[in-house]
Amino acid sequence: MESVGVAVVGSGPAALAAVLALRRRGVSPTVIDAGITATTPPSASASMPSATDGSGLPDKTFGGSDFPYRVPRVRTWEIDDTCALRGSFALGGFSTVWGAAVLPFTAAQMAAWPIGIEDLRPHYAAIAEVVPTSGVCGDALDATFVDLPTNPRPLAGVRATEAMASRLTRDAVHLGRRGLIGGRARLAVDAGDGPNACTYEGACLAGCPRGAIFDAGDMIAAQATTGAITYVGGTVVQRLTSVPRGVVLDLSDLTGGSQRRVHATHVLLAAGVLGTADIILRSQGAGVRVLRALDSQYFLAPLVRLGAQEIDPHAVALSHLFLEVEVSSSGEMSHLQVYPPNALLLGVLSDRLGVHVARRAIRHVMGLQGFLPSSQSGVIDIRLGRAGTLAVSARPNPESGPAARRVLRRLVGAARQLGGVPVAGQMVMAPVGRGFHSGGTLPMTSDPAVGGTDTLGSPPGLPRVHIVDSSVFPTIPGGTITYTVMANSHRIASGVPL
Ligand SMILES: Cc1cc2nc3c(=O)[nH]c(=O)nc-3n(C[C@H](O)[C@H](O)[C@H](O)COP(=O)(O)OP(=O)(O)OC[C@H]3O[C@@H](n4cnc5c(N)ncnc54)[C@H](O)[C@@H]3O)c2cc1C
Ligand code: SF4
Repeated sequence: MESVGVAVVGSGPAALAAVLALRRRGVSPTVIDAGITATTPPSASASMPSATDGSGLPDKTFGGSDFPYRVPRVRTWEIDDTCALRGSFALGGFSTVWGAAVLPFTAAQMAAWPIGIEDLRPHYAAIAEVVPTSGVCGDALDATFVDLPTNPRPLAGVRATEAMASRLTRDAVHLGRRGLIGGRARLAVDAGDGPNACTYEGACLAGCPRGAIFDAGDMIAAQATTGAITYVGGTVVQRLTSVPRGVVLDLSDLTGGSQRRVHATHVLLAAGVLGTADIILRSQGAGVRVLRALDSQYFLAPLVRLGAQEIDPHAVALSHLFLEVEVSSSGEMSHLQVYPPNALLLGVLSDRLGVHVARRAIRHVMGLQGFLPSSQSGVIDIRLGRAGTLAVSARPNPESGPAARRVLRRLVGAARQLGGVPVAGQMVMAPVGRGFHSGGTLPMTSDPAVGGTDTLGSPPGLPRVHIVDSSVFPTIPGGTITYTVMANSHRIASGVPL
């Protein structure tokens, strides 16, 4: 049987972070990845999504292609209508279409974790070195999120969001007393002056034609080109079996037409929440038949303003501002992203008010997208059926709607700084999984039993297998997730005894 040394499964943000940590240790891993790619590159004219199905934002495509969400023929996944979570089999995983919002967790958000913020701190710093992050220093977010990259380049906002950013900074003390902080969005977008820097094409929601939005697949491909790693694409890991000196991986091509087995000394599993659950449920030794994922559900609401702002077709179409609202005395927060008027927001308004009224109203509306912590969100059940089908369904949490409305009411207290008020009556709760901030299927504990992992992401029964994606998060805070996915993966890959 062929031996591949240390194997990393996947090419998304978690896999990339593991690769970077292994490279620091002088290890050249073999990356085994389904690695579906777009058949054509995105163009600046690819249309932005402009309508919703009334239950959240539409799934974002890349240059009009849905390749990030495609499930290869070798897999049968049945995701029922209750659940909006999908998995990615793409080169780069979901970083091909993500919103690029990055924030670290706080110590309070990790209170229920067996590791603390100090364990992640050096790894946030390592990730900050490779993920170009825009934003500014010196606003209120810096003091709370101490692991933010320092000296990031600023990305230009529009007049209304620039004014809001100034007021949020000016009144930070007053807002802080009310459990609310805000500042400029931190985005994994290249705001520098290099060849991939943002040139304000405004097509971010359709796939950046410049490559300015960070995509883990680009760095994986670059590492493979230099020979730093071996990249095995078009390959699906079916199951893992621990053997005395390593792990055997059963592999297949995307169609199931060709199969083989390889041996690895260690496996770092970064297949995303559903992908990793799928592999673990099929693997002998793991001993689990059903897994339950936690989710951070999102909600949408309009922020109605007195001032006017036209749609600027050249504005960055990702979030411009972040607002953090304390939702419990234990430091849980709800993270909100503020969007200036854009084509998507116009589509949402047109659905509700008709095109004519929406065209006039859009000048006075900004979009709010808020995320709840997993304690206030629904859960996702994942089970493997007899015929090898992965069945996925969700159970909503009756607390989600009231919790979202409470967050919006708290923002009324910041109406002066925001220049407007959120309309809680128009709030839309997205279905469970729609925000793709999920995990917690195999949570890290200091004393792992079946269904959990140790603090290096290793499940009992599968020694030398280390899960490095958000499957091992004990909770999902109401915020952005990928920056911590990467930091935690980097931590685990730095500590795995090789
Ligand atoms: C539209 C959208 C917007 C988002 N916006 C944000 C945001 O603004 N901020 C944020 O923090 N997060 C955001 N996210 C979430 C973010 O994209 C994910 O947290 C992140 O991509 C997870 O990284 P990952 O490496 O764990 O998994 P993924 O990105 O899902 O990558 C999984 C990888 O595993 C591979 N794979 C899967 N199964 C197998 C298998 N059996 N064999 C071989 N390879 C396999 C795939 O090819 C892929 O490369 C967003 C997600 C979406 C979809
Ligand atoms: S605004 Fe910047 S990030 Fe968005 S599509 Fe244009 S170049 Fe890309």
